[in-house]
Amino acid sequence: MIKKGIRRQIVLHYFFVVFLALLLVEVIFMFALRSYYYDSIYKHIESRIESVSEFAPKFKEPEQSLQSYLLNTFSLPFTELQLLDEQGNVIDNSTNFAADLSVQTSDVTQALAGDTGKWIGKQPSTGQQVMAVSQKLDNIVGDQVYVIRYTTSLELVNDKLFTITLFSLGIMAAVLVIVFVVSTGLANSIVRPINNIRDVSAQMAQGRFDARIEGDYRYELGELASTLNYMAQEIVRTNQIKDDFISSISHELRTPLTSIKGWSETLNSGGYDPEETKIGMKIISKETDRLIGLVEEILDFSKLEQNAMKLVMGTVDLRELLQEIMLNVWAKAEMKQIKLQLDSEETAYLVHGDGNRLKQVFLNIVDNAIKFSHESSIIFLSLQRIDGNIEISVQDTGIGISAENLARVRDRFFQVDHQNGGTGLGLAISQQFIERHHGQMLIRSELGAGTTITVSLPALQAEQSVEPSQLTEGQI
Ligand code: ADP
Repeated sequence: MIKKGIRRQIVLHYFFVVFLALLLVEVIFMFALRSYYYDSIYKHIESRIESVSEFAPKFKEPEQSLQSYLLNTFSLPFTELQLLDEQGNVIDNSTNFAADLSVQTSDVTQALAGDTGKWIGKQPSTGQQVMAVSQKLDNIVGDQVYVIRYTTSLELVNDKLFTITLFSLGIMAAVLVIVFVVSTGLANSIVRPINNIRDVSAQMAQGRFDARIEGDYRYELGELASTLNYMAQEIVRTNQIKDDFISSISHELRTPLTSIKGWSETLNSGGYDPEETKIGMKIISKETDRLIGLVEEILDFSKLEQNAMKLVMGTVDLRELLQEIMLNVWAKAEMKQIKLQLDSEETAYLVHGDGNRLKQVFLNIVDNAIKFSHESSIIFLSLQRIDGNIEISVQDTGIGISAENLARVRDRFFQVDHQNGGTGLGLAISQQFIERHHGQMLIRSELGAGTTITVSLPALQAEQSVEPSQLTEGQI
């Protein structure tokens, strides 16, 4: 017995469908065969009756000799020929047996009504199944009405039909065995991979994400297997990224906290040198700002992830925004002797957006450019109007990003090198903000040669009225 499950379903389904089809064919075939045999017997007798009907009116001899002539001349092998009167009484018959019987079957009634009568049934005297064919003989000598009746046993034909039925049932059984074997094979070819996939996914459900579905499965099962493998791989990767994030965020939190703790202890220990106190307080304030920035970045990210971030939309001049950013990062750039250069042809580049969020985006991009640039290099910022959009690009000649990492820099928590500080959330957050402004962010980079990040935002329509000015250049 096959265990409950898909395998049994498939086998039973096939078996049932084929069984029904074979049964139908068998029944139709046996009916057709039976009527073919019975019809041939009937036709054979009918043609003999026709000969009798043609001959009888021509016969002019006395009555008695007609009866014996008919019985001798027109009898058929294995068939009883009877002559009946109008009441169905047997006048004579070819086997000279039970000659005084009276016959009342439907064929005789039909014959007396003028048709060729046919009856199939059990003969009371022998208990055998027989076919009787009768016809009335008119216009013969002495105006006597006769009914001529042929009766033949169907036992031989029925035996033959029975043998054929047994034989075809044998074939049907053989076909069903083949169907069983083939459908079990087919069911196994489906169920085995499913069982394997189920086992591996059960392992995955228990946290074993290193388990993989082996085997070269085809079609939907192949797709299912590779999707599950991909899912496990992604979970491993995301877990790794989260672990990295926790370690880098702990490091990020620890550095300012150590500094704050160190200075607060120093200040607490007394001495109160006003100059030293001022430096200490400045550092504490700076490091606290850093911590607040870090926490804000994480909060922003979680809000964006939950779709709970509300944008405060207004008109934003991107040129003004970039100039403001250049002032913000001036000190940091100065420390590495990096120059920031802004190229723009117009005095204002207006977009509809959230000024604070857009500032956050470009601050992150410019901050990264400074962080990953070599000392004494230049970072180019440019503003351009292209096809109803404003394109802002930030180009550096820093360390660049390899093609492999480039595909992942926008992923949450991704960092090429965790020693560089940061959370790996900056570009992920920027990407989401830009998308919420219906814009696009393109990152091009070559390892060792530098990076260019281009952000494209839809320009504000009313801004077209603003007069274009001469080429202006901002430099810090
Ligand atoms: P982070 O807070 O670490 O800066 P980001 O999402 O802003 O996070 O950046 C992700 C990673 O992309 C950075 O850690 C860095 O490795 C890489 N990256 C971003 N900008 C640049 C750049 N201008 N040059 C080289 N690498 C960059």
